[in-house]
Amino acid sequence: MVVNEHSVVIIGGGASGIFCAFQLAVQGVQDILILERNERVGRKLSATGNGQGNISNENMSVKHFFSSDLKTVESVLARFGKNDLLVCLRRLGGLFSSDSSGRIYPTSKQATSVTDLLRFALHREGVTLHTGEYVRFAKKENHRFVVQTDKATYHSRCLVLATGGKAAPHFGSDGNGYILAKNFGHTITELRPSLVQIKTLPEEIKGLKGIRVEGRVSLLRRGKCVVAVTGDILFTDFGLSGDAIFRLSAFLQEGDYLSIDFLPAFSMEEIANAMHAKQRLDPDINAEDLFRGIINSSIGKCMAKYCANKQKNPKVVSIECLAYAIKNYSITIRGTLGFVSAQVTKGGVPLFEVDNNLMSKSVDRLFMIGELLDVDGECGGYNLQWAFSSGAVVAKAIAGRIYENR
Ligand SMILES: Cc1cc2nc3c(=O)[nH]c(=O)nc-3n(C[C@H](O)[C@H](O)[C@H](O)COP(=O)(O)OP(=O)(O)OC[C@H]3O[C@@H](n4cnc5c(N)ncnc54)[C@H](O)[C@@H]3O)c2cc1C
Repeated sequence: MVVNEHSVVIIGGGASGIFCAFQLAVQGVQDILILERNERVGRKLSATGNGQGNISNENMSVKHFFSSDLKTVESVLARFGKNDLLVCLRRLGGLFSSDSSGRIYPTSKQATSVTDLLRFALHREGVTLHTGEYVRFAKKENHRFVVQTDKATYHSRCLVLATGGKAAPHFGSDGNGYILAKNFGHTITELRPSLVQIKTLPEEIKGLKGIRVEGRVSLLRRGKCVVAVTGDILFTDFGLSGDAIFRLSAFLQEGDYLSIDFLPAFSMEEIANAMHAKQRLDPDINAEDLFRGIINSSIGKCMAKYCANKQKNPKVVSIECLAYAIKNYSITIRGTLGFVSAQVTKGGVPLFEVDNNLMSKSVDRLFMIGELLDVDGECGGYNLQWAFSSGAVVAKAIAGRIYENR
């Protein structure tokens, strides 16, 4: 077996790994090696934002993140935030713009173009990329790291674990990074899929497949609202998808259920008044037709059925019940589509096991970045910003260590 010496080995050529390597290189660190199991780097990055690459958000703030230690997240974002990222990517020749909700995209609206900006930069900076190489294990021996892949053994002074979590494993992040971290003595918090579609009772969404509405959806736990989000709700053949659902999925717990307000801009009274007006003009109007001009007809049909099932006499459905259903349609949750469909992993290596520079507190010069750590963000560019920010902060710390020892 060939043995190679490097100053820094980065396991994982995803968003965090390639950005970290690039930042190391621009700070003058040499002999950087990225080991990536896929045939090319940044496969997941290239698929983000429905292929459009929502890399960050104008409203970047720690309040859009979940972690066991938000102070460290805040500190990382303060040292390399949204503006730093944009300056850096603009220097590489990219142009970026944001939409009305603050989501930042490349003006090409192609996530692959962000991967390409970084890929070409790595090439120019002389970073070594070994793709199609899977890391089997890594350990520290005699003050240096030994990294064993299916093809070779590598030695390095610093090691960065950038393997991602276990969401969307078809992109290479299948959770094996947790085993690498555990082998260095780290623990892993409970892991859950997040930013994922929600499965519901089929009869509660019958006839709604393909309908997309802008509504307000609340997550309820023991009758109390845990969180409410206004946004895109998409009915699918298994349940619910869309932006609002993705955002709520980050909070899901067993036993929770959903309540949808299909017309958040109108009060129950206003809706009931519109229905009463219709009924005055047409006293024999049926429940379904009362929704005409108010809400999508398939949703109206579903609401009428829902109220009929609730009332003693299904033939006499009260307008108050119909208006209430529009504002409070209750949906039973039957889980999520899981890690395979999730965009991110909730949980990971707890931040109290790393220092402010994301270096392991128990293994000197071992760093962890990106989704492997117990940090996840809301939908809207927060997760990629974390991947880039954590990569940049670690790069600075490693460069500092290397220069200190020269
Ligand atoms: C479909 C989809 C859309 C998304 N859209 C957005 C979005 O628009 N905005 C946003 O902010 N976030 C988005 N995300 C989330 C975001 O992509 C991730 O949070 C981010 O990519 C995490 O970066 P990472 O470097 O930690 O991990 P990853 O990007 O998962 O990279 C980890 C890399 O490590 C490699 N690897 C793992 N184990 C090994 C090993 N043993 N040996 C060698 N290589 C290994 C993997 O192959 C992979 O390439 C999306 C996610 C998905 C799945």
